[in-house]
Amino acid sequence: MRTPVIAGNWKMHKTAEEAVSFVNEVKRATLPVDVEAVLCAPFLALPAMVEATQGTSVGIGAQNVHWEEQGAYTGEVSVPMLKAAGVEYVIIGHSERRTYFAETDETVNKKTRAAHAGGLTPIVCVGEVLSEREAGKTKEVVQTQVKAACEGLSSDEMKKTIIAYEPVWAIGTGKASTAADAEEVCSFIRKTVADLYDQQVANEVRIQYGGSVKPENIRSFMAEPNIDGALVGGAALKADSFIQLVQAAS
Ligand code: 13P
Repeated sequence: MRTPVIAGNWKMHKTAEEAVSFVNEVKRATLPVDVEAVLCAPFLALPAMVEATQGTSVGIGAQNVHWEEQGAYTGEVSVPMLKAAGVEYVIIGHSERRTYFAETDETVNKKTRAAHAGGLTPIVCVGEVLSEREAGKTKEVVQTQVKAACEGLSSDEMKKTIIAYEPVWAIGTGKASTAADAEEVCSFIRKTVADLYDQQVANEVRIQYGGSVKPENIRSFMAEPNIDGALVGGAALKADSFIQLVQAAS
């Protein structure tokens, strides 16, 4: 059985102080032991969050990383730096990074490989834009992104990769996908992994849905057999709502 993983993606929100006060609120709640809870924060908040979550079941993630270990890459942060800070996860290829920061399938692949090589769990984002959905190209787009992101990964690395299916039109719009539509794409992603590797690898990969997930609709997604959790933006910015999301995934 796959352990559900609920990850908050804070995007460009929260200072270190605000992040720690969020974590302290989460620590007062009882979180289910059968759900992996992750908070992906801005770089500057990460060390304080790692410290604040010591001894809890909450894992900490970054929202981006560079593929080289070190070097002349002004403004970038590497996998070994994140590891040294106690970070365990990293979001790779979020649609905002693809749109605003020129991330490509190729850089997503380099980052995913680097994350595995350095012992971080990548949360690789894929998803179609509205015009692609309307043109009936969702599966084609998502398949291309998954294939490119995972190129060169060993079976073991693939099993440990988390794929987040985030239809771009559903991000931050309040217009979530229906659970049935999300299930159709997530099951197609699992089939894509089975074709690239084998059924056993595909059975272990965790696939999240993301895009306007809230405490009110998360249960509908979690009820689907191929949806193993959620990547949540806006509704993960408040501790009480994040706690509800994690509890609902149990
Ligand atoms: P929202 O939950 O705010 O729609 O954002 C989704 C997202 O982009 C998570 O990575």
